[in-house]
Amino acid sequence: MIKPNMHYANLKDSYLFFNISQKIKAYLEQNPNTRLYRMGIGDVSLPLCDAVIKALHEAVDHQSKKETFHGYMPECGAPFLREAIAMYYNDKGVKISADEVFVSSGASDELGDILDLFDRSNTTLVIEPAYPAYVDANLMGGRNIVHLASGEENGFLPEPDKNIKADLIYICSPNNPTGAVFSREKLRAWVDYANQNGSVILFDAAYEAFISDEDLPHSIFEIEGARTCAIEICSLSKTAGFTGTRLGYTIIPKELSRCGMSFNDMWVRNRTTKTNGVSYILQLGGAAVFTPEGQRQIRENIQVYKNNAKVLMEALDKIGIWYCGGKNAPYIWLKCPGGMGSWEFFDYLLNNIQVIGTPGAGFGACGEGYFRFSTFGSPEDTKEAARRLVELLGKK
Ligand code: PLP
Repeated sequence: MIKPNMHYANLKDSYLFFNISQKIKAYLEQNPNTRLYRMGIGDVSLPLCDAVIKALHEAVDHQSKKETFHGYMPECGAPFLREAIAMYYNDKGVKISADEVFVSSGASDELGDILDLFDRSNTTLVIEPAYPAYVDANLMGGRNIVHLASGEENGFLPEPDKNIKADLIYICSPNNPTGAVFSREKLRAWVDYANQNGSVILFDAAYEAFISDEDLPHSIFEIEGARTCAIEICSLSKTAGFTGTRLGYTIIPKELSRCGMSFNDMWVRNRTTKTNGVSYILQLGGAAVFTPEGQRQIRENIQVYKNNAKVLMEALDKIGIWYCGGKNAPYIWLKCPGGMGSWEFFDYLLNNIQVIGTPGAGFGACGEGYFRFSTFGSPEDTKEAARRLVELLGKK
């Protein structure tokens, strides 16, 4: 009889978004036609920008004519897009060559698939609270996981602990769910730790485009020494509204190798075996993001979300609640008032002001007592949610 991958039995049920939707359903059954203010979603609400739409239309037209038709694309990405992404880094002073860029269908796919490059005996370190896929993808592969809790005392940006042995290290900056961003010094400590221990950092830069402070790093490759210890995984989902369109990229430097094996070469071999590339249409659409016009337009959309963040942060300041994030990230991570638990606070907001957020406990044990607001909603809803928050909590 075939033996299933028994590691799946180690996965905990993913209650977070299921529980949220069940609670909302029950509330709406009791209170039909009530308007809800959804500050919990991690999905964007603005459409793709004009430059991308135009390129997608052009790409469809190309596919209709024999002279411009594209069949299979190169597995690691179209040269025009790999070059555009490398230039995007070079313009920020980060030297990346096109053959270090791998075009993907999104960061989620890569965060799991990239584990193919590492032996199952490796230990994976996950800084918590964390994006749930890191833990689950490693559990599916049967890897041992070390959970490193972070908290208010270190601004949810923990330092490496020399007593903890970790081979693979996930770092998400700007962070989902906390919105915290590693400074150069803090990131350098992790790069040094990884180089000293022979570890590899998987740097999730899905929210890099939300960084406003000039001195914060957008890429781990801005840190000296990162080329020998890091892989960067990025996505156009939040940067350019590609959540439903699907496009991302992964950077693997040529210098990154262990035991005489080059991870860049291994990933070329992996992609050429396991994929047939991302569609031409999406890659042409994605390339438009990196044109001056595309950059200008996506920044306009990001600014809408940043204004939402400002509105929510002003409300929390008025109430006097501790929070981090929001300034350089599309998430605000706040401490539940009055010592409430994160699900308790969820119910409190839903029942009293119909505002929905995400309970911090869903991102790891140390998220209990915290709550996440997303800034991807509409400006109108965000303003009303902020007004209701102040009205409810400001009088305490
Ligand atoms: N990484 C983080 C930290 C995320 O929050 C998300 C999506 O919410 C992803 C990766 C997934 O991105 P993609 O849509 O490219 O799969």
